[in-house]
Amino acid sequence: MTKGKMIYEGKAKQLFETEDRNKVLVYFKDDATALNGAKMAQIHDKGIVNNKITSMLFKLLEKEGIPTHFIDRISDREQLCRKVDIFPLEVIVRNVVAGHMAERVGLPEGTEIPNTIFEISYKKDELGDPLINDHYAVALGAATYEELKEIYAMAGRINKILIDFFATLGLRLVDFKLEFGKDEEGNILLADEISQDTCRLWDLETGKKMDKDRFRRDLGDLEETYREILKRVESKLK
Ligand code: 5GP
Repeated sequence: MTKGKMIYEGKAKQLFETEDRNKVLVYFKDDATALNGAKMAQIHDKGIVNNKITSMLFKLLEKEGIPTHFIDRISDREQLCRKVDIFPLEVIVRNVVAGHMAERVGLPEGTEIPNTIFEISYKKDELGDPLINDHYAVALGAATYEELKEIYAMAGRINKILIDFFATLGLRLVDFKLEFGKDEEGNILLADEISQDTCRLWDLETGKKMDKDRFRRDLGDLEETYREILKRVESKLK
């Protein structure tokens, strides 16, 4: 697969054309940003770790019947994916109170909730990705009600699969962010990445935060924690 022109550069990844107009090459960088870009750093080999973890998790999800953009991991930092038009939405799934939810509703992190919470934010860096709802999304032309229904159903299935999987690694899936896109035929596919950059994962025994909050909140042990997550995922998946 030849790497063509760069078509997009985000905070953590670059996207390149390939000779097949329906496929893109995704390159995972070491750059880490937080607090809407106010905090920036390089985390040694993060791109390699996240490419591996995302590839293994997307393969697991495909096996469990979730359609994704992932085709193959082709090098340490690159994967081949189906080209999709990304919905300008971040779909957040919460199983326990943490992060912005804790701030928003004034409950301590770790508070149990009886139901799964699905949230959407509008992907707009200059506005800080504001929290919206379905009606806003439809009004903004970001998705239709039918598409949102399908997206929430997929997010719910993904949540069940990942809660069970991470539990086998001694990790609690607290919350996570998903992105979806549409291929040329109009199929909705899971896109972007799933890794400790996009999920909150707490060690089931010790409660230790094993995710990007170590970077966001300057908790230390960053590279070791990223490697530890990779080791645990690799112990179950290839
Ligand atoms: P919160 O809204 O509490 O900040 O985030 C909820 C979950 O979604 C966390 O697991 C967090 O990692 C993920 N998340 C939300 N927005 C982003 C984002 O812009 N980038 C990344 N990498 N993760 C995000």
